Amino acid sequence: MTATLLTGGCLCGAARYHLTAPALQTTVCHCADCRRASGAPFVVWTFFATGALVWETAPPKLVHFADRERTFCSLCGTPLTFFDPSIPHLFEVNTSTFDDPTPFAPIDQCWLNDQLPWTPQISTLPGSPETGPLPDLAPLE
Ligand SMILES: [Zn+2]
Ligand SMILES: [Zn+2]
Repeated sequence: MTATLLTGGCLCGAARYHLTAPALQTTVCHCADCRRASGAPFVVWTFFATGALVWETAPPKLVHFADRERTFCSLCGTPLTFFDPSIPHLFEVNTSTFDDPTPFAPIDQCWLNDQLPWTPQISTLPGSPETGPLPDLAPLE
C-alpha cells in the first residue's frame, strides 16, 4: 500500500517539499507581516507538527523577522513556510503552495485587526474565468 504524500513547492520548482504528518488546521491570516511577506492581501496557512516538513530540494531562503522564521524560494520569491519559536510544536505551510490546495479549506481567520477592509467584498466582484478586462489609462479616482 502506498500512502499519498502531501506535496508542494514554489512557482519555479527550485523548492519542493512533502509532509510526513497530517494537516492539523487551515487558517486565514490577515496580519500585516504576512501581507508584506507575501505581497498578497492575506495568506492561508496550514498547521502541522514541527518536523513534519521534509525538503526534497535544497532548503529555501530562511528569513528572520520579528522573532519569527519565514522561508522563501531564493529564485522565484514564493513564500513557503512560517515558524514562531514561541510556539515550538507547530509549523505552518503556505496552503497555496500545495500541489493540490483544494481539500484544505480554512476553518477560521486571525489578525482581523489588520484585515484590509475590502477583502470581504472580493467574492462579490464581477469575475472572469481567466484573464479579465484590462483597465483604461484613466487614473483611479
Ligand atoms: Zn522558486
Ligand atoms: Zn500572519
